[in-house]
Amino acid sequence: MSSLSVDLSGKIAIVTGASQGIGRVCAVELGRSGATVICVARNAEKLNETVNEITEAGGTAEAISCDVSDRESVESVVDGAKEKYDNIDILVNNAGITRDTLMPAMEDDDWDAVITTNLRGAFLFARACSRYMMRARTGRIINMSSVSGIKGNAGQTNYSASKAGLIGMSKSLSCELARRGVTVNCIAPGFIETEMTAVLGEAIIDAAKQNIPARKLGQPIDVANCVLFLASDAAAYITGQTLAVDGGMTA
Ligand code: NAP
Repeated sequence: MSSLSVDLSGKIAIVTGASQGIGRVCAVELGRSGATVICVARNAEKLNETVNEITEAGGTAEAISCDVSDRESVESVVDGAKEKYDNIDILVNNAGITRDTLMPAMEDDDWDAVITTNLRGAFLFARACSRYMMRARTGRIINMSSVSGIKGNAGQTNYSASKAGLIGMSKSLSCELARRGVTVNCIAPGFIETEMTAVLGEAIIDAAKQNIPARKLGQPIDVANCVLFLASDAAAYITGQTLAVDGGMTA
């Protein structure tokens, strides 16, 4: 799979969950496309690996450790970026967790942790960035939803609620920001080969492939290419949409 070629020179991008998986590849691809990338997650060591990958390829990036569910930390990342770079052009709300279990056995904390990280985290970053983007009359907010936010999946009531919530939040926010030149879209990945899915084990992954019309898992670059497109000038008139990257799972 090759990378999409877009020119994001001079753009400032924040990517959450950039320490591994999809977020890391999105950050690397944004950097390769010319954007200055602010890489956010909790694990500083792994974030630095992402930053090194970007800088070794000739790009510009910095790492900031931050828990996306903590309002003060999020606002400090966004305000700091605005102060340092004078602009925030692209926000990729990608940080996410799963705590899968059937609802009768679901603990309060399983529900709260997933909603707080996946939905509140995206809200906090989108709110903080949109304040600057609307004044600048330009911006791209890209929220990482999931096929589980489009169709049900047993054992994922918390995760599905968070991911469907992102779709609803994005649609409403897109209506608020469209006339200010800011677009808000979701990407809904299907089954993508990352650390998140590796823990499921070979038997579950083999069974899952049978439900994917493409009969294979997607790669982080499949998702990153959509991020590049939605972040580019070519996608200026697309807002409030959800783009599934799922090998046909939701077809
Ligand atoms: P992953 O490998 O588990 O990576 C998740 C990322 O989120 C990590 O960088 C993690 O970094 C960060 N993160 C988690 N909690 C955080 C918090 N409280 N504050 C800051 N960062 C946090 O997951 P992935 O597979 O790349 O998935 C990325 C996104 O795509 C998620 O939103 C996921 O729901 C979505 N998605 C994935 C798939 C898939 O098949 N892989 C399918 C559909 C949707 P730290 O641990 O360092 O904080």
